[in-house]
Formats: sequence, C-alpha cells, structure tokens
Amino acid sequence: MTQDSDLTRLTLAQARDGLRAKSFSAQELTRSFIDRVAASDKLNAYILATPELALEAATRSDKRLADGDARPLEGLPIGVKDLFCTSGVRTTACSDILGDFTPTYESKVTENLWQDGALMLGKLNNDEFAMGSSNETSAFGPCINPWQTDDKTPLVPGGSSGGSSAAVAARLGLAATATDTGGSIRQPAALTGTVGLKPTYGRCSRWGIVAFASSLDQAGPIARTVRDSAIMLTSMAGHDARDTTSADISVPDFEAALTGDIRGLRVGVPQEYRVDAMPSEIETLWQQGMDWMRDAGAEIVDVSLPHTKYALPAYYIIAPAEASSNLARYDGVRYGARKPGADIDDMYAQTRGAGFGEEVQRRLLIGTYALSAGYYDAYYLKALQVRRLIAQDFEKAYEKCDVLLTPTTPSAAFALDKAQADPLEMYLNDVFTVTVNLAGLPGISVPAGLDANGLPLGLQLIGKAFGEEELLRAAEVLETAAGFSSEPTEWWNAS
Ligand code: GLN
Repeated sequence: MTQDSDLTRLTLAQARDGLRAKSFSAQELTRSFIDRVAASDKLNAYILATPELALEAATRSDKRLADGDARPLEGLPIGVKDLFCTSGVRTTACSDILGDFTPTYESKVTENLWQDGALMLGKLNNDEFAMGSSNETSAFGPCINPWQTDDKTPLVPGGSSGGSSAAVAARLGLAATATDTGGSIRQPAALTGTVGLKPTYGRCSRWGIVAFASSLDQAGPIARTVRDSAIMLTSMAGHDARDTTSADISVPDFEAALTGDIRGLRVGVPQEYRVDAMPSEIETLWQQGMDWMRDAGAEIVDVSLPHTKYALPAYYIIAPAEASSNLARYDGVRYGARKPGADIDDMYAQTRGAGFGEEVQRRLLIGTYALSAGYYDAYYLKALQVRRLIAQDFEKAYEKCDVLLTPTTPSAAFALDKAQADPLEMYLNDVFTVTVNLAGLPGISVPAGLDANGLPLGLQLIGKAFGEEELLRAAEVLETAAGFSSEPTEWWNAS
C-alpha cells in the first residue's frame, strides 16, 4: 500500500493485517482518521475528539508492532459512544445533567478493547441516556446521517447510537462501540448501511456503561463488515465479576466461526413481523433475503411469535420503569450539574428539570407512574408477564429453526424533526428490535440493499442465547449474498 492511498477505506480486518504486514504504521493510520474526523463537523458524530491520546497510543502500538508483540487489535482506531465511561475523558451520555463529568474509571468493555491494543479517536454522539431512535434527543444536538437523497434533506442516522453508526458509515473510525436496549445498535446500523451486532444479554459487561434499563442494556459493535463485528466482539465480551448479570461463559474466537457454510441451517421467518404499513420494498428485500439464504443451502421455515404485538407496549413500560430507578442518582449532589433551590427538594426539582431533556423527563414520569403503588400490578407486573411470554415464543420457534430472519426497521432513514413531534411514531421504529432485548437474545443487522431513494436498508438475523457464532456465520453469508457496496457521497467533508 502506498503512503498516500486512503487508509480509512480499509475494513478493520484489512487494517489489522496491513499493520502486521508493515504496509503502513499505526500512526499513519490514526492520522488519516484524525484528519477525517476534523473535517466532519457537519455530521456532529463526534462530540469530543481525542487526537493527542490517539496518537500517543498509536506510537506505543508502533513500538509493539516493531517488536513483534502486537495484540489482537493493535493500533486500530475506533470511536466510543458517550455512554461508556472513559477514564480521564469526559463522559456525558449526551445529557446536560452530567455536565463535564469525567470518570476516574474505565468501562469494562472499553478496557477490554484498549488491553487488546485498540485506540480511541473520541466520544460519539447519542440520544440522551440512549433514549431515542434518531439521535435528536442529544444535548449536543442531532447527529446527521452521512446518507442523503437527491433533495439533500438532512436525515437522522438512527438512534440511540447515531454517532456510532454515522461515524462508521462516514469512515471516521474503523468501528465503534454502541449499546442496545431496544434496538439502538441494529436500527442505526440499518439506517446507515453498516453492520450492528447486539450480543446476548450478559455477553458483555455493563460495568461502567451509563445505565438506561439494566435488564435490557447490552453493549456491542457497529462496524463496516460482519467480520469486523466478530473481531470487535471477541475483544469486548467476557465475564466480569463487577456486573452480576455478566455471563461466566468462555469467549470463542468469533472470527473463526465465519466459515461461509450454512448448509442445513434452518432459518425461521416469523409471520407476525409482516406489519401493516411496511413499505413494499422492505417486504421485497425480506423475501430476497430468504432466497439468498436458501441459495446458500439453508432451509426456510415459517414460524410464529404470537405475542409480538405486545412487545412495544411492554418495552415502553419496563424500560422507563428501570430508567426511573437508574436515573434517580442524578440529583445535583453526586454528579455533574446542579441548580440551586429554596430547599433540598426544590434543588432536586430544579436540577432535574433543567438537566434532563424532554424525552428523558417523559420516560421518568411514565416509569415512576408504572412503578407507583396501585399501578405496579396493573402495568409493571403485566409487562413482565408479557416479557416472559415473548421469551417463550422464541423458545418455541427455536424448536423449529436455528436463526430468525426479519427486516431490521419498518422504514429507511427519515428526515430530522419528522418523528420527533410524535413520541409514539418514534417508538414504532423499534417494532422489529425490542422483542430481541426482551428475550435477551443476540441480533445483528446487515446492510442488504437500497430503497427507491437510494437509502440503505437492513435485514436482521436473530440467534439463540449465546449463539453468536452461528448468528455471525449466517450474517456473513447474508452479507456476501447481498453484496452491499454503496457509499454515501461526501457532502460533509470539509477537507
Ligand atoms: N429507541 C429505543 C428507545 O428509545 C431503544 C433505545 C436503545 O436501544 N437504547 O428506548
């Protein structure tokens, strides 16, 4: 590779191999990304760039590479969603209430990545406390999708991990960390033509990740390819005694699972995912996905997930309920911003009223209401019962199949402000993704085609609990068959 070829075009796997072959240095690779990030303000993907830290780490990586002492991700620059605590680097969850909070500790997932030699380019935009599907609830303002249609209307990159998806789509990092509570990895990946992998609940430690809804939250990567996602997950995953829900289960080399062979795999197609008002092109793409899998030797089977229609209502009780408890800690005393008040109760009210945005306040009100005496049984307990039924639906389906194939989202990227006005419309974005979180299963979105306006669409594969190897193997076959190679035009690049 020559000095002036664009190193940011490489996949993470290619960059890894190029560094090992000494085709370029970690410092050269890192500088290429730093320059692109510096020219990408219009996207508002990074809310904090850390170029000096990145270059220092790259220098250390070059030494290790020269010494033949390279770790699995040595010298590979990535972005980090601002929900992950990063030691000495401001972490805000994109909320005013965290102000300039600078953790003295590192999240387990990012620590795993740094210990494997990856390096951080900066912190990425997201919906405030990961609540949203468009990245518009961020205190730092919206992140813009690098993809546009001919009329150049600004589009959302999905959410809550909109900064992560936009950064990967715009080549502002080889990959990015993200989190998914109801779809926040897979939906933004689908809307930006990237790959988003939500692992099984418990696969990655939640320690040091700002909590939204603890029984649903899970970290995972957004990357350019399935292989890159597998490489990232191998580093991010692993047991951690500091998260009691982290699974004490060994982490395979997920990349080694990508054999390209899915002969005999049973791919289930849930009838209940044929929702009204789904554009016909998504329906067609889904059918195309089935054909691709069948051509690769899989068997397509019809399955039923009968409680799917109750998933969104159950999620929008459980997630706000857990959020109202998790976010009680932001009281103006322990973290970040404080607004003075007449007495302590007033100080809490002033601080929380000014520090939380509208969507977060809406969730806290719903959650507190659902948990309050008299309503607990009617709403929260009911939602938990529905959750159990949804998990059982999947267990039954997996008696007939090994993975499930569905669309990732009911639409392509939409215009800024479009869904913002109506919270219920926004919540509908998660119709195909929340069930997976409620059941704790792994899911992946693979870019599969373009809609009539030239915007990316994703297909989702859902696996069995801790079945990421099979899931990734199937996803890579789907990715190869789809052959998605389109890229957004670089309207944002200021360099
Ligand atoms: N869009 C969903 C919500 O707003 C999911 C968010 C997420 O997965 N963090 O709750």
